[in-house]
Amino acid sequence: MNYELTEEQTQIQRLAREFSIEEIEPAQIKMDEDHEFPYDLWKKWSDLGMAGMLIPEEYGGSDLDPVTYILALEEVARASNTFALIWQVHVLVANIYIKFGSEFLKNHYLPLYAAGEKLGAFGLTEPGAGSDTANMTTKAVKKGEAWSINGTKTFISNAGTDISDGLVLMAVTGEKENGKKAISSFSIPHTLPGYSLGQSWDKMAWFGMDNRELVFEDCLVPEERLIGTEGQGLKQALDGLNLGRIAFGAISAGLIQSCLEESLKYAKDRVAFGNPISSYQLIQAKIADMATYAEAVRQFTLYAANLHAKGTPCHKEAAMVKLFSTRHATQATLDAYQIHGGYGFMHEYKVNRLFREGKILEIGEGTNEIQQLFIARELGC
Ligand SMILES: Cc1cc2nc3c(=O)[nH]c(=O)nc-3n(C[C@H](O)[C@H](O)[C@H](O)COP(=O)(O)OP(=O)(O)OC[C@H]3O[C@@H](n4cnc5c(N)ncnc54)[C@H](O)[C@@H]3O)c2cc1C
Repeated sequence: MNYELTEEQTQIQRLAREFSIEEIEPAQIKMDEDHEFPYDLWKKWSDLGMAGMLIPEEYGGSDLDPVTYILALEEVARASNTFALIWQVHVLVANIYIKFGSEFLKNHYLPLYAAGEKLGAFGLTEPGAGSDTANMTTKAVKKGEAWSINGTKTFISNAGTDISDGLVLMAVTGEKENGKKAISSFSIPHTLPGYSLGQSWDKMAWFGMDNRELVFEDCLVPEERLIGTEGQGLKQALDGLNLGRIAFGAISAGLIQSCLEESLKYAKDRVAFGNPISSYQLIQAKIADMATYAEAVRQFTLYAANLHAKGTPCHKEAAMVKLFSTRHATQATLDAYQIHGGYGFMHEYKVNRLFREGKILEIGEGTNEIQQLFIARELGC
């Protein structure tokens, strides 16, 4: 596979890197202090055409390819996993509208998403149904020209900000011939009666990102807001999650790279037993591992992104990227913390945040155990 980047891809990568250093890094410090969604930063990023990176030009987007997106996402994640995740969820939702939305929904939401005036959210997880989506209890029942929705979602990212709109919601709409639940997806306007924002979660990291419960009580959703056809919700979600899992590769690469840079800087500076700790081979081993895995994750992610960009089926590869990259991201955050000794425990040191951000990547976008089950099934188990 040819990995040579086009001039445009290199330019966007450079633009994302410069923006990350000048704008995202300071905004991350502010997010850690005030726990607020970074509205100003999102506007500046959107004004560069990044909110609509994969949205076709006819809907006001930049119409770029998934490889360019992955390259820019790594740069963003290097400065802030929080902002990378905000953007990643938005792109995932826009993609569901692009692929499965009616012209009515596309014309309504895509220009708003491309301009960054509205922010996308994706509601699948419930208090009693995370990995086990078949246990979903949120129901949509047909009532005349509308669907009446009842149920609760939880952990949902991006849904409770001032600019959230067009939540893509998964709900059970009946039973299939094989007795399994038929799950469909709906586009939910932010102000719809019967739809309310529940409790916001107090998290250990990602402070600028909104994560909360969403409650539906006899919420009447017009028929025209069913996305695609009835019963296709999980299929659409899996399609969206494929790019999401590849995106987690880029986010992991950014996180590992950040761990490497912090560790290298600290290890050259910190003196123990009369020498910089970077001169000790046990420290060097950790640093060499981080550099190796940053590169391996980056290349594997680019490989899968190239498959995705060409339209080649890549469910297995996307799951493998997610499993491999997030596992090494967690290890890198542990090693970076170890290299910093007691200072890694202190909020003043960046590795403290990196450590808090790492582990969740093994859980979001489908846990790593679910990726393993999926890969094993693809291999014929
Ligand atoms: C910060 C954050 C943001 C999120 N954002 C969103 C969002 O925007 N939209 C959304 O819909 N969801 C979101 N989620 C939910 C996330 O996708 C779920 O947390 C994840 O899918 C796991 O579900 P769970 O937490 O219920 O864990 P569970 O499914 O209860 O799993 C618990 C443990 O059991 C393991 N397990 C489960 N089944 C099996 C099995 N068959 N074999 C082996 N092991 C198994 C899991 O791997 C895990 O280790 C978010 C979560 C967090 C924490």
